[in-house]
Amino acid sequence: MDVAGRLPRLRATLAGAGCEALLVTDLVNIRYLTGFSGSAAHLLVLPDTLVLATDGRYRQQAAEELAAARVEARFVVGTVAAQREGLAPEVRGVGRLGLEAASVTWARQRAFAGEWFPDVDLVPTEGLVEGLRRVKDGGEVARIAEAARIADAALAAVKPLLLDGVTEADFAVALDFEMRRLGAAGVSFDSIVAGGPNGARPHARPSDRPVRPGELVVLDFGALVDGYHSDMTRTVCAGEPASPTLSRMVDVVRESQAAGVAAVRAGATCADVDRTCREVIAGAGWGDAFVHGTGHGVGLLIHEAPWVGATSTDTLAAGHVVTVEPGVYLPDHGGVRIEDTVVVTESGCEPLTHAPKDLVLT
Ligand code: ZN
Ligand code: ZN
Repeated sequence: MDVAGRLPRLRATLAGAGCEALLVTDLVNIRYLTGFSGSAAHLLVLPDTLVLATDGRYRQQAAEELAAARVEARFVVGTVAAQREGLAPEVRGVGRLGLEAASVTWARQRAFAGEWFPDVDLVPTEGLVEGLRRVKDGGEVARIAEAARIADAALAAVKPLLLDGVTEADFAVALDFEMRRLGAAGVSFDSIVAGGPNGARPHARPSDRPVRPGELVVLDFGALVDGYHSDMTRTVCAGEPASPTLSRMVDVVRESQAAGVAAVRAGATCADVDRTCREVIAGAGWGDAFVHGTGHGVGLLIHEAPWVGATSTDTLAAGHVVTVEPGVYLPDHGGVRIEDTVVVTESGCEPLTHAPKDLVLT
């Protein structure tokens, strides 16, 4: 990963955002710009220098992580009051200081304006670092690919449990444990294991209900590797599906998902990819049963820009990593969702999720 190369690109956006310097308060953005992964920090991006303020818990970690990322900064370490006193002289000469509007609460904005930087014009900015984060470099793609590989392997390892009447909750634990055993630093999000009627709720929580033969089971999960997430969904059935409707739902979603993946390429609009998926499902008469967007970017956050949905104004570019995950949810039958994480290329996309999409487990 070229972490140090991100700062010049950020600085190049500041004038357009109406500021000379930026106070980064979003911890994910701070990690992206510096490699620092602690839970408390302020990062002051000045035209020629960088100042990281954090508390005593992170004195050593901050120094080590920035050195590993080859990012040079001045450190201010101490209480919040000490950080305020350490940052105040740094902004002398700055006329307009950008704040991250999506990260700064009303209370903090008042503190920044009143006590921290009383002599500086504070300017709200939106999406400056997030805009850079959309396009992943090779090191980032490698981490997401490794997370996706671990998720694939974990599913393959624990899938047989579904034939033994395992409960949703126990299967989720087995999946999570296997991802950790295979090297994940954690799970991307709370794994979804939803059988039968529970599958009709797209974000159901795993329950104590056993998985039964013939019903659809939606499995949505991912692994975390060095801060980067993966995201995949498979829908499976222990034995043959109990009704032709279930098979038809799976066929339609599979066709929709394949069409969506085929529509992904640099220059395609996210709204077009969404429409491609939606048309297949609407053609089967289930347009109203596809109740969520088609996908989302994946990276340091499990859900981040670009957004693949009907109202999205985003256009895909090479290096974006997005999911394609159409679904159909019918309360009387259950749910189907199929999701791959893919990396966008000039001519199409490369899947990072490789698990088979077979429905029937035997
Ligand atoms: Zn998912
Ligand atoms: Zn997803």
